[in-house]
Amino acid sequence: MDGIILLMKKLILVMFLILMAACETTTYRGAIRSRPQEFISIDDFCNKHNLQYSFNAFDDVIKIFSIGNDIRLVLNSNIAYFNGATFTLKNTPQYSSGKLFVPQELEKIVFAKEQVNLRTAFTIKTIVIDAGHGGKDPGAISCRGYPEKDINLKIAKYLKEELKQRGYNAILTRSKDVFLTLQQRVDIAKKHNADIFISIHGNSNRSRGFRGTEIYYLSPARFDSQARALKLAKEENFYSYKLSPDAEAILWDIVLTKNYSLSVDLSRSLYFSFKSLGFKVESPKRAPYYVLRLAYVPAVLVETGYLSNRYEERFLRNDSYQMQIAEAIALGIVSMDNEYDSLARR
Ligand SMILES: [Zn+2]
Repeated sequence: MDGIILLMKKLILVMFLILMAACETTTYRGAIRSRPQEFISIDDFCNKHNLQYSFNAFDDVIKIFSIGNDIRLVLNSNIAYFNGATFTLKNTPQYSSGKLFVPQELEKIVFAKEQVNLRTAFTIKTIVIDAGHGGKDPGAISCRGYPEKDINLKIAKYLKEELKQRGYNAILTRSKDVFLTLQQRVDIAKKHNADIFISIHGNSNRSRGFRGTEIYYLSPARFDSQARALKLAKEENFYSYKLSPDAEAILWDIVLTKNYSLSVDLSRSLYFSFKSLGFKVESPKRAPYYVLRLAYVPAVLVETGYLSNRYEERFLRNDSYQMQIAEAIALGIVSMDNEYDSLARR
């Protein structure tokens, strides 16, 4: 009798396992069934082309390699890197039921050498505007007691309008006085597939004489002026403790090859725009763009002015001045967009 019960128990277990396996298969097929011809499992892809791969689950970076081939992809991101060239994918690498899938188009791009250089393929459609600080985090407090977060938000909203009028899709990371974590800001950029990310801030310094606009583009913290860079990162909540040194190295690697030049170009474009509108503005500087480490978009941080300066603070609180700042940023974006457009047409 015991034997029969045991057998039945085993049978139930086996049936359960079969059921589980069936469910697993269904989910797996279901996830990819929508466009089966557009994806290939990374194992199949690597076997077919005699490649190896590694996947870092922490930073979502997929490295596919062999002697002479270096492909880097980021999960759910349509930007990819192949032997020194950056290109955009129509479909993004995906993770489904424990398996990694890469878009089929990768084969064409990589092995038929149809890669599109990002420099010419880059067009700006979606801009994520990040109003710095918010909620419990006021940012800098101005010399007359106004919090930076409010000024950032107003400029961000004006910028959104400026960009919408020019036909862009503009998204705010926050439209109210709420606190957002670093990850939440990054997730918004990811979710909307942002082409560029603009973070709006207000500066402050103990020396009250400091004034003017400053523009920062992303760069590895290892670069020069590390102390200054770190100070900025900490003050602006751009400091993240999460990444292991290894993950960081891979990430900086990919971020650098992919977004560095675009970020520099964008910062330059903004600089000339501010300058042409008569703002006191310094040449763009490097900053450790911690907020962007996981966002994979070209990005710039604008320190609109010094809230610690009595003269500039009065302007920064003024609506028409806020609109002028928004206009300067919008024009800078438009001019970069036009420049890349004309490159693409060549
Ligand atoms: Zn700030």
